[in-house]
Amino acid sequence: MTAAAEKTNLLGMPKAKLEAFFESLGEKRFRATQVLQWIHQRGADDFDQMTNMSKALREKLNEVAEIRGPEVVYDEMSNDGTRKWVMRMDNGNNVETVLIPDGERGTLCVSSQIGCSLDCTFCSTGKRGFNRNLTAAEVIGQVWVARKAFMPFEPGPDRPITNVVMMGMGEPLLNFDNVVDAMNLMMEDLAYGISKRRVTLSTSGVVPAIDRLAEVTDVSLAISLHAPNDELRNKLVPLNKKYPIAELLAATKRYFARLPEKRKATIEYTVIEGMNDQPEHARELAELLRDLPCKINLIPFNPFPESDFRRPSMNATRRFQAVLNEAGYVATIRTTRGDDIDAACGQLVGKVEDRTRRSQRYIQVQQVNP
Ligand code: SAH
Ligand code: SF4
Repeated sequence: MTAAAEKTNLLGMPKAKLEAFFESLGEKRFRATQVLQWIHQRGADDFDQMTNMSKALREKLNEVAEIRGPEVVYDEMSNDGTRKWVMRMDNGNNVETVLIPDGERGTLCVSSQIGCSLDCTFCSTGKRGFNRNLTAAEVIGQVWVARKAFMPFEPGPDRPITNVVMMGMGEPLLNFDNVVDAMNLMMEDLAYGISKRRVTLSTSGVVPAIDRLAEVTDVSLAISLHAPNDELRNKLVPLNKKYPIAELLAATKRYFARLPEKRKATIEYTVIEGMNDQPEHARELAELLRDLPCKINLIPFNPFPESDFRRPSMNATRRFQAVLNEAGYVATIRTTRGDDIDAACGQLVGKVEDRTRRSQRYIQVQQVNP
């Protein structure tokens, strides 16, 4: 192992862990405050930049620690302003991170795993199997890289990243500890200061982990439901055979019941032609969710080459939405963004190798035409 590999990467450490790290060096805990601000608010990756620390301490940090984020291999802007990064993680794995601007809002879609083991039938990530969990540094590293793209950063309402959704590659609740550390950094005032309402974890329904999550955090929760009954959901989300809908909705209710203030769950429903897109599915869904304070987010299926599923017509999706609206629900249709750069929901990952080749071409073009 090289000396560099043995260094402690401080990028993924929330405040409490950084404090413990400094204590272990025989240093004061408040150093954690300084380092957090340097790393996450100023985008520092070099201890020598940290001028409010003594030279001796900086030298000590250089010996034992590092600030190492993902390497950007591809950075592309869609015609609609959606921006996508392909980031290379340790071991050469690539992950995609997408920033979707919408008026005052900038929503960053962050990945939690390389691949996913849950194999939902409509998801391109699932089709590629599971490779590994991302470290906390690799999860928050996506936010760090995106934020650095907008330096210098000034706190205020027009910050480029106002919301984070854990809706990229992977099932965040199967990478529990690292995702919790990273979300704590997103919400940390000394780091990104994003409100707990604007950090959303999306899960396909790992029921015991939803209960564990309630014990350690109060971020917003989105449930990938996609079907109004177990028979249909078993076909779309294999995890449903382990944790059926009734258990999933009960855990969701428990999660929200613990919060001090009233907040609604988000129910995600990918609408797939001929599968789950009929008005009777919408009526069954309305009945099913009667006791759960929620808003419903309809996601028209995004096709990808290995899938036979199709996106329903906009009319069919609107009909589905209307049934829910008439039943008293707030139901929105997620507009597809970033189609031209394959950044749309469910297209994350795609042909990463092809893209890497493409990105090399892109970098070459950039070099030729700076
Ligand atoms: N694993 C988590 C988070 C990542 S997926 C989860 O399943 O919730 C983020 C959202 O995109 C989920 O609601 C997922 O069901 C949806 N999705 C996946 N593939 C899709 C596709 N091809 N078209 C539309 N939505 C898709
Ligand atoms: Fe995994 Fe979510 Fe895709 Fe299902 S939808 S395979 S849980 S990433």
